[in-house]
Amino acid sequence: MVERLGPPLEEPIFDELAIIGAGLIGSSIARAARKRRAAGRIVLAARSRATLDRVEALGLGDEATSDLAHAVRNADCVILCAPVGANAAIGRAIAASLKARAIVSDVGSVKGAVISALQPVLPGHARFVPGHPVAGTEQSGPDAGFATLFLNRWCILTPPDGAEAKAVETMRRFWEALGSHVETMSAEHHDLVLAITSHLPHLIAYNIVGTAADLEEATRSEVIKFSAGGFRDFTRIAASDPTMWRDVFLNNKDAVLEMLGRFTEDLTALQRMIRRDDGDGLFALFSRTRAIRMSIVAQGQETAAPDFGRRAAEEERAP
Ligand code: NAP
Repeated sequence: MVERLGPPLEEPIFDELAIIGAGLIGSSIARAARKRRAAGRIVLAARSRATLDRVEALGLGDEATSDLAHAVRNADCVILCAPVGANAAIGRAIAASLKARAIVSDVGSVKGAVISALQPVLPGHARFVPGHPVAGTEQSGPDAGFATLFLNRWCILTPPDGAEAKAVETMRRFWEALGSHVETMSAEHHDLVLAITSHLPHLIAYNIVGTAADLEEATRSEVIKFSAGGFRDFTRIAASDPTMWRDVFLNNKDAVLEMLGRFTEDLTALQRMIRRDDGDGLFALFSRTRAIRMSIVAQGQETAAPDFGRRAAEEERAP
């Protein structure tokens, strides 16, 4: 497994890269692209003055602006890094200003809805290659990003039918330059896989922390006091950005409801095992799930360290 981003590229992949949305993901792309010189010039766009001020103070790019049309006008590649629900409006705002044959990509955690929102509003000459870096933390905003966020993580590209192979290849090279492994699949398959591996776990975390918060006052303080157990990790996940996750669930409704149905059936089976004192059944399931955890660590997608590798990420946080 590679531990660090490689040296700067001899030739940048894009002369100019525009990043719309300068939060955790957008700012991490800017940091990594700059470190590897994957883009000659980087323009970042965000909505609020406060975010733009931080982008400038952190030196994340060559230009920061709230004018989306201005941000994309010279870009060879535009990556949308705002919450999924904002994509259609952003697409409409940039469409007329896109350079001929610019690649338009995104990082949204759902893909089918993003394609439905963006494809109709983008001009025919733009080359659309949707993507999803499967990497993140529960933090938001430009200060939360770091250059190695994508190192050894997967990035999934979901080119729609008729996407230009050369543009897909260019995006693959770009994400590989940022340290990612790249896989290509259909948007539908992506949404189903991510519903179980990412979206449902977040829903469960939001629910369990919500249930604990609803308990009466005295019990709640006990919950917080003794939260060193499994609950503490749920609270970390449940601290994830509310806007982003609201948009994920509203935009991947079918797949999440399908997975939630299966989850509920399996939970009922577990309930039955406990009621019937089925120790063998519980032990067999817990052994299977432990093996899954071990294979995730073995494949380098997680660390066995008790801090889940967060300290290493902190050290890399400087732009
Ligand atoms: P974030 O830290 O909250 O940043 C969002 C950024 O988008 C902010 O700079 C915000 O600007 C900007 N923005 C919001 N609405 C906008 C609009 N209408 N027009 C222009 N800019 C707008 O979010 P994030 O965690 O980076 O997530 C961004 C995207 O990455 C989401 O689509 C998410 O699904 C995807 N993603 C997230 C993760 C994760 O773990 N967080 C992982 C993989 C993919 P202001 O600050 O000025 O409001």
